[in-house]
Amino acid sequence: MASYDVLYTFGYILASMCIVFPPREFREGGLTIENIFSSLIGSEDVRFIHHHIRRTSLTVLIHSLLPLCYYIGLGYTSPGLQLFNLGKTSYLWIGFLCCSLLIVLVATLTVLYWYKNNWSKHPISKTLERHGNRWYAVASDINIEYRRITKFTSILGQTKVYITDSWIVKVSTYNMDIAYQSDVHLTLHDTDSHAISHENMGPVQYVSITVSSIRDGVHPFSIRLNSNDYNDLQTKIQAPIRNARNIVIHQSLSDKFLDAFQNQVALNEKYSVPADMELEQCIGCMQTTSDVKLTKRCDDATSGDCVQCYCRPMWCRQCMGKWFASRQDQERPETWLASRSPCPTCRSTFCMLDVCRIVVAE
Ligand SMILES: [Zn+2]
Ligand SMILES: [Zn+2]
Ligand SMILES: [Zn+2]
Repeated sequence: MASYDVLYTFGYILASMCIVFPPREFREGGLTIENIFSSLIGSEDVRFIHHHIRRTSLTVLIHSLLPLCYYIGLGYTSPGLQLFNLGKTSYLWIGFLCCSLLIVLVATLTVLYWYKNNWSKHPISKTLERHGNRWYAVASDINIEYRRITKFTSILGQTKVYITDSWIVKVSTYNMDIAYQSDVHLTLHDTDSHAISHENMGPVQYVSITVSSIRDGVHPFSIRLNSNDYNDLQTKIQAPIRNARNIVIHQSLSDKFLDAFQNQVALNEKYSVPADMELEQCIGCMQTTSDVKLTKRCDDATSGDCVQCYCRPMWCRQCMGKWFASRQDQERPETWLASRSPCPTCRSTFCMLDVCRIVVAE
């Protein structure tokens, strides 16, 4: 092979790698099969399952064309190899051409087989079938839940993990794994830490969780995510995540702060309210009853930087902690614990010592 052919071959291998494993720059620039052929495969938001059935099928077809395209490209760049003149080229190249054509043929036949009866033979449809008698009924259920904004999403490279109200879905290049939330056992099985990650500059820890379903025929699969998303994941999952090997998960800075905030509030003086006082829903999350009152306790009523707040209880501990964190210097987390924040309603300054848990008087 001439040096020019070697150059072409390396260039082609590099380009193929970018097609099969698109680097971040390609994904951000929209240079993915999903994006380029979006009109053909439909929107993920509208018909999630159908989108991925078509996407995986198209991906198989496009990837199967890579060896053949290499052959054709080489034929043009190196006419000396006589690649288009089968009588004069070497047996090695004829063998390569036959293999390339065979790969395209097998891929095409496979996709045609999947397409039978409106995609009922596709591996994703088969996976869905294990969760219900009719795969398209399961598909429409997942499509509806996927559209809700409350779903958990984690995207690492080519793999996406979605957790909806009742499903755990892992999408990869050629496949999709699905488990029904109430069927699963989750086990934390590994973590790996990296000093610098490609995705977000800075140290990062990834956790791997095995999802095993008690349903027949549903194979266990593993999901991997940034440990910063671990708390979010836990709130979205109904079952506890077993941590038999006592793996230590590094919390995100804001999670660590929220823990410290809760601990401080638990140590602070309580604020008692009469039994007949009706506590309102927290206006931050609208999910729990408000359970803290800002009362100046850190100093005398008239001295110090804090100011007495006269607002009625309107917040829960969690939301008050998040509010407090959001008002701090985000560049200097070491100062947060000793800092102050304005009351979310009346703007009176308070510190962590002034956040009192509400107790109902006997
Ligand atoms: Zn709240
Ligand atoms: Zn106030
Ligand atoms: Zn104070």
